Amino acid sequence: MRLDNKVALVTGGTRGIGAAICIRLAREGASIVFTGRDIRAATPVISAIKECGVDAFFHKADVTDKERMEEVVNEVAKQLGSLDILVNNAGITRDSLFIRMKEDDWNAVINTNLNGVFNVTQATAKIMLKQRSGSIINISSVIGVAGNAGQANYAASKAGIIGLTKALAKEFATRHVRVNAIAPGFIETEMTKKLPDEAREKALAQIPLNFFAEPSDIASAAAFLASEDSRYITGQVLVVDGGMKM
Ligand code: NDP
Repeated sequence: MRLDNKVALVTGGTRGIGAAICIRLAREGASIVFTGRDIRAATPVISAIKECGVDAFFHKADVTDKERMEEVVNEVAKQLGSLDILVNNAGITRDSLFIRMKEDDWNAVINTNLNGVFNVTQATAKIMLKQRSGSIINISSVIGVAGNAGQANYAASKAGIIGLTKALAKEFATRHVRVNAIAPGFIETEMTKKLPDEAREKALAQIPLNFFAEPSDIASAAAFLASEDSRYITGQVLVVDGGMKM
C-alpha cells in the first residue's frame, strides 16, 4: 500500500491506460478522482476502484476546457483535503500524412494532448506547490521521442509534453513536486485496435520482447513514479516499449 492516504487525479480514466492507472493506484491505497467525457464508460471503472476499498469520484470534464478543469481540481482539493498525484493521460490521435493533414486535425490533437496538460497542470501545480509535495506524471509516447510518418500532430504534441515535463521538473523541484513522463510503446487499447493488421504486424516486428503491452504495464510504471520509491527521480522520461526504441 505505497499510496495510502494519497489523493490521485487521472485525466481520461474511462478506459484503456487511464482506467488501468486508476485501478492500480487504488490498489496501492490512493483515493481516485478521474475525468473523461463519457459518463457511461465511467461506471465500471468506479466499481473497480471501489472494490479496492478506496474512494472513487468521476467528473465529466473535457481537458480542453480550462475553466472546467480548474473547477474540478479545486473541488478535489477542497473535498479531499489534498492533491498528491496527477496523471495527465487523456489523449487522442487524428492520423494522416502531413501534406494532407487538415488544420482541424492538427488543432484537435494539440489542444487535447498538449494544451490539455497545460490546463490541468497549472491548476494542480498551485495546490502542490503550496503543499510542498506532489508527483505529476505525463503520458507521452515513444512517437514523441522518435517521430512517426503519418503522425506529425501526435508526435509534436507528445514531444511537447516531454519538454514541458523537463521545464516543470526544474521549476518545481525546490518545493518537492516531481514531474516525470512515461513514453509507452504499443499498448493494446481502443486507440491501437483501430490500426490495420498490416500496421500491427509491422509494429510487432520492431519490438524485441515480441508482444504488445497491456494497459497494466503502463499502470505499474505510473504507480512507481507516483510513490516514494521514485523520490529521487524527476524530469525523466520512462520508456515502456518492450525495447522498441532503444
Ligand atoms: P483510449 O483512446 O483507449 O483512451 C483515451 C482516454 O482519454 C479515454 O478515457 C477518453 O475518455 C479520454 N479523453 C480523450 N479526449 C479527452 C478529452 N478531450 N477530455 C477528457 N478526456 C479525454 O487511449 P489509450 O488508453 O490508448 O491512451 C491513453 C494515453 O496513452 C494517451 O495519451 C495516448 O496518447 C497514450 N499512449 C497510448 C499508446 C497506445 O499504444 N495505446 C502508446 C503511447 C501513448 P472519453 O472518451 O470519455 O473522453
